[in-house]
Amino acid sequence: MPENLNEFIRELSEIYDRDSNDTYISIYLNKDANKKFIERRIKACESILQGEELKNFTNSMKDIEDVIKKNKGNNIAIFTSHKHNFLKYLSLNVKIKNLLIVDSSPYLRPLARIHDEWESFTLLLVNSNYAKIFSISMGQVENTKKLSADIMNKHKKGGFSQARFNRLRKGAIHEFLSEVIEALQKRADERIIIAGPGQAKLQLKSMLPKNLEDHLVETIDVNIDDEKELLKESIHLVSEKEKQKSHEAVQHLKQEILKDGLAAYGIEETRDAVKNGQVELLIIEKDCKLPGWICEHCQLVKQGTNETCPYCGKKTSKVDILEEILEFAERTDAEIEFTDDEEIAKLGHIGAILRFK
Ligand SMILES: [Zn+2]
Repeated sequence: MPENLNEFIRELSEIYDRDSNDTYISIYLNKDANKKFIERRIKACESILQGEELKNFTNSMKDIEDVIKKNKGNNIAIFTSHKHNFLKYLSLNVKIKNLLIVDSSPYLRPLARIHDEWESFTLLLVNSNYAKIFSISMGQVENTKKLSADIMNKHKKGGFSQARFNRLRKGAIHEFLSEVIEALQKRADERIIIAGPGQAKLQLKSMLPKNLEDHLVETIDVNIDDEKELLKESIHLVSEKEKQKSHEAVQHLKQEILKDGLAAYGIEETRDAVKNGQVELLIIEKDCKLPGWICEHCQLVKQGTNETCPYCGKKTSKVDILEEILEFAERTDAEIEFTDDEEIAKLGHIGAILRFK
């Protein structure tokens, strides 16, 4: 799993074959995938592809055999084109739908959706002398960092006064929590959940600088031994937050449309806005696919069917037009939000909040 899934998607979105169709192969393979799935898809593609493209397909499939073998037991996404000497893959912690797709560019929609739905976040488990920071990616713990401090809990008899002891103890806790906050800053762009028993977490919360406070999802009161349950609960919380975010995105889009503001909706309008680099946030209906065609040579995309490009006369490829708009959007660094909100279907299955108009 690459450090930054977003970067990975962006890099792939830059890739397309200008001169010939059907030369990139994208495979999404679940770890429990039946061998027959891939055999059946290979057969189907081989019976349709011809000449150059068939040769490239056969060679590319040879290239990836090794990758599949090496990654047995993992869910894996592979993008390849032998002709372009191109092979990239990554293993995924979440269950994926098996796919083998031949197209003029890597097929990115499932990856983009994983990125949207399985946001990485940070979970902090803390009390006054112990902290554990979990980095969670695609619903699994990627790594943990432990911090602890030696803080006196009881006033020993003799020596200094109770008041002085309390002061020292307070200072030590404050120092420890500051150290924890410093560690959190390393993952400052992620959502944060703070959990723990008692007061320490609340004290830490009150000490958070603005940039971290803005990313705080929730503070949970929890027994420090119950890590498993806590992980489950926090993954649930973040996924609820994601659902809420996608709902809000659609509401925002509707508001902008009503006041004729910074919005585009429907295939044509959204496609044009994406190509102009105007899109801040692209909103796509989750499971919708719409037939369209692309001329990779002219980078022209339209709904419906058309065998040859009306501008250059080259052969076009059949595509899912939503996928093509998504790929354009990834190239411009737009954020992507998938939604199953019914309203987006009414607005033409796709829309965008714009940076400018
Ligand atoms: Zn063309």
